[in-house]
Amino acid sequence: MIGLTNIEKRFGDNLVLKGVTVTIDEGSVTALVGPSGGGKSTLLRCINLLEIPTSGTVRIGDETLEFRPGGKVAARDIQRLRLQTGMVFQNFQLFPHRTAIENVMEGLVTVLKWPTERARERALALLEKVGMAHKADAWPATLSGGQQQRVAIARALAPSPKVLLCDEPTSALDPELAQEVVDVLGKLASEGTTMVMATHDLRLASKIAQEVVFLDAGVVVEKGPAAVLFGNPEHQRTKRFIATLK
Ligand code: ATP
Ligand code: MG
Repeated sequence: MIGLTNIEKRFGDNLVLKGVTVTIDEGSVTALVGPSGGGKSTLLRCINLLEIPTSGTVRIGDETLEFRPGGKVAARDIQRLRLQTGMVFQNFQLFPHRTAIENVMEGLVTVLKWPTERARERALALLEKVGMAHKADAWPATLSGGQQQRVAIARALAPSPKVLLCDEPTSALDPELAQEVVDVLGKLASEGTTMVMATHDLRLASKIAQEVVFLDAGVVVEKGPAAVLFGNPEHQRTKRFIATLK
């Protein structure tokens, strides 16, 4: 289980997350939706601690970290929690001077100190899973956006994270290439991968998310099953926003 309790994040005077509490069940897919600037990316980055919450508690499986304003957090603790997560970004962010398979192997070899051959085997299996084994030795620049994103998904999954975090994984892609990525994420979801994704892509969210969190101006306005949030939301604000996605 992943638990975010009362997460606040402040950038200077700007309180961007205003006490967000969300629970994510193992094996479930949660979509974070809401207007631009509402705090979706910041919330994802507070799960893998690319941003350190100003206050609140982050729990991933058995690992829990509590944050207090002005408090110090040990780098070792950050690393311990971050290793439980994998992140997929809007613009792929593959290492340009590494081949597809080297991108997937990188964290296993440099962070987890796996022997190269063992890392290569796991990377190839993951490339297979995302339909990219035939491009294992290709350079990122020679791949389409959809292919790059599938390699990025394989890379994020390499250390067997407890949760896959995706920040707008399809929004840099035209519809056909986005569909490849939706299909891969759908397959991972059906295999029980726990995921949290920020997305404006209603097709993606309604296809694979069971839970939806509507985040507006740093506040969870409404959360619940996807069928309810997308079909019959309780709040006017949610209703108006969902209508803009359709
Ligand atoms: P979008 O849908 O456009 O991706 P979002 O919901 O992901 O938006 P965030 O990127 O989390 O929104 O931004 C929330 C707020 O936090 C914005 O006001 C943004 O300017 C601010 N913000 C985000 N990162 C930083 C930062 N590193 N420094 C200062 N302010 C930031
Ligand atoms: Mg964002």
